[in-house]
Amino acid sequence: MGAFLEKPNTEKYNEHGAGNGLRYGLASMQGWRVEMEDAHCAVTGLPGELKDWSFFAVFDGHAGARVSDHCAAHLLECIMETEEFRKTCANDEEHLHVNSVKKGIHSGFLFLDHKMREIPEMASGEDKSGSTAVCALISPKFIYIANCGDSRAVLCSEGHPTFSTQDHKPMIPSEKDRIQKAGGSVMIQRVNGALAVSRALGDYEYKNVEGKGPCEQLVSPEPEIFVEKRDLERDEFLVLACDGVWDVMSNTDLCDFIRSRLFLTDDLENITNQVIDTCLYKGSQDNMSIVLVTFPGAPQPSPEAISLENQLEAALEMRVRELVESRDKIELSSIIQAMDDEDIPGLPPGGGIQAKRNFIKSVYSKLCPHGVDKVSLFLE
Ligand code: MN
Repeated sequence: MGAFLEKPNTEKYNEHGAGNGLRYGLASMQGWRVEMEDAHCAVTGLPGELKDWSFFAVFDGHAGARVSDHCAAHLLECIMETEEFRKTCANDEEHLHVNSVKKGIHSGFLFLDHKMREIPEMASGEDKSGSTAVCALISPKFIYIANCGDSRAVLCSEGHPTFSTQDHKPMIPSEKDRIQKAGGSVMIQRVNGALAVSRALGDYEYKNVEGKGPCEQLVSPEPEIFVEKRDLERDEFLVLACDGVWDVMSNTDLCDFIRSRLFLTDDLENITNQVIDTCLYKGSQDNMSIVLVTFPGAPQPSPEAISLENQLEAALEMRVRELVESRDKIELSSIIQAMDDEDIPGLPPGGGIQAKRNFIKSVYSKLCPHGVDKVSLFLE
């Protein structure tokens, strides 16, 4: 942990799709880290009788990618295999069965964590990896959100974040209480001074306290589960993302930013790429993954917004030219810094100048083909 590359790996993995009245786009990027340990899953139309249900998830691995990869491949089937889930879904009376669906999700998480432990590298202790998990099951009537760890889901309705999961950090009183009851301590905001997250799948070296159940260990695989009734008119979009995104953007920042992009394009992969690049430029040093799911009530591209963005880009281009011409040699980072200090109107809300860094760079590269563009790593 804590090892960084000399320059960030900005290559992105993308996916998109649509179904059940939903559209989704996702992006993930390794960034400054030496390893890529995030994983994700996106399925519209679940197998069997659940064709009108969809599933999305983000997993943020640590100490390796074994657990996050395994969870991305198996969490959904583990949930769907539970008795509670099977007997209750796929019927018109879903509202009568919300609690059973919740129980199924809960059991699915614990079942996966239990089964994964038997994988030979896990059982031998050779692989010490773990992973957060945040997922959403979307039925025609409800959104079920389950969270274990410090990745986060945020729902944006009528222009604002109306729901967010709570990050499971060791300092939270209820988490600290469980950790202490299991004989551990919280130091430097970490479980036993080492692990920065208090709930995760895997991390079996933190799950060996005798006489304690799976949800009473130093690190718990128990998901916190929330149910939101869908509102077809007000619900705009749902975001699932790992802490590499949330470290540098608040819930409101990210909702504002994504909304402003939805008025410009319906290319959701492109929007998630813009989020990740903006977070990198805002200083995120972590792997980043984001899944964006839009509902029928999401903003649509509008000619007015597109025209305003074109005006902004024209103004930015003019300012870059002025700055380049005003000096003998100027690095891209100095141009960004200068423009950041200028309070330029019309910058993307929640993103600011960093959200236009790629555009500014494209102008700069044309004017100064040999200019210096270095994204720097700010060590804490
Ligand atoms: Mn992370």
